[in-house]
Amino acid sequence: MKYDYLVVGAGLFGAVFAHEMAMQGKAVLVIDKRDHVAGNIYTENRMGINVHKYGAHIFHTSDKEVWDYVNEFTEFNNYINSPVAVYKDELYNLPFNMNTFSKMWNIRTPMEAKEIIKKQADAEVDRIRKERAADEFEPANLEEQALSLAGRDIYEKLIKGYTEKQWGRDCTELPSFIIKRLPMRFVYDNNYFNDRYQGIPMGGYTALVERLLLIKQDDEKSSLPGSITVKTGVDYYDFVKMEGNIPAEPFESVNGDSFGRILFTGMIDEFFGYKLGTLEYRSLRFETEDLPDVDNYQGNAVVNYTEREVPYTRIIEHKHFEYGQGKGTIITKEYPANWKHGDEPYYPMNDDKNNKLYTQYVDMAKEYPNILFGGRLGQYKYYNMDQVVRAALDMVAAQ
Ligand code: UDP
Repeated sequence: MKYDYLVVGAGLFGAVFAHEMAMQGKAVLVIDKRDHVAGNIYTENRMGINVHKYGAHIFHTSDKEVWDYVNEFTEFNNYINSPVAVYKDELYNLPFNMNTFSKMWNIRTPMEAKEIIKKQADAEVDRIRKERAADEFEPANLEEQALSLAGRDIYEKLIKGYTEKQWGRDCTELPSFIIKRLPMRFVYDNNYFNDRYQGIPMGGYTALVERLLLIKQDDEKSSLPGSITVKTGVDYYDFVKMEGNIPAEPFESVNGDSFGRILFTGMIDEFFGYKLGTLEYRSLRFETEDLPDVDNYQGNAVVNYTEREVPYTRIIEHKHFEYGQGKGTIITKEYPANWKHGDEPYYPMNDDKNNKLYTQYVDMAKEYPNILFGGRLGQYKYYNMDQVVRAALDMVAAQ
């Protein structure tokens, strides 16, 4: 069969791209090496609970166009992410807000909180300036960034251990931008995100991707001018005819399909046979337990464990993402892990060294104008889901 596009990876990026191309009348073949679609946002329904199989996902965005777009394919519930953090025998609300400060210092007003944080942060900045014998202060790493924003107490109890577990490196060895994801506010508001829109697809993320890929044919969106064929359990590296380790042009599969262009959403360094070197990723290991006799394990969807000694970073109780009231519950402990070849890459390690190597791969990719790269792995970016949708729509618009 002759296709306009081969999309490698049936995750969110690939699904949005495939859908938009089918809207434009293109014939698209989507392949994925896993035996299911939806990539890492895949949800699996067990015991009436949508289990976030590859880590918890909460959709949030301030991009109205993206919000309207995803709402065409699924209805979202009104879930607001409000994680709590456990540090030793203490329990705090996240993100850092008046509930957190009040608990930590037994205070009540924003003025008191600001004063304590400023005093602690100023002391750290002074110390660092003295150590460097410099007048100016520019945070050189995540530790300095966190200390200068939040002070010592918050850093030690809620940031240091969690971050070092999460990234497998000292906070002094990590880029400061990671911590900018964590908002700090001086109101009693436990909403983790600052975005205008937020929620979880009712019925799970898999159904959203299935609608994008026209697998769920339940509305008028299924009859598009083009077509989408989805094949799971197909490994790109076995499927496409290669010249060396790059697809031979004109693009063909081993079973005689042909493709005008390719969108690749896997790891860009692997695509090029790691020719310029290996990009670093962070992996995760999930330990999931079905607890049929427990109806409510922790009273919240997300509980973070911020001390270093607890080996997991968080426990997810999936039913709370959808206000589940049924019998039994399912929990997942999330263990960060070093990534090595063959492991699932979950997070790009976007430090200077890796970003530089990535741009060299981007230069290499320019020699192949008929091959596009998208998503967290193809673009080596710590994308949230809304950014994935935005990037996919932008890529479609640029074709
Ligand atoms: N973080 C932290 N303490 C927490 C939660 C997060 O210090 O209790 C920091 C940590 O460095 C983490 C970053 O904030 O890598 C971003 O966290 P987020 O929950 O947004 O990450 P994700 O959900 O993408 O894993």
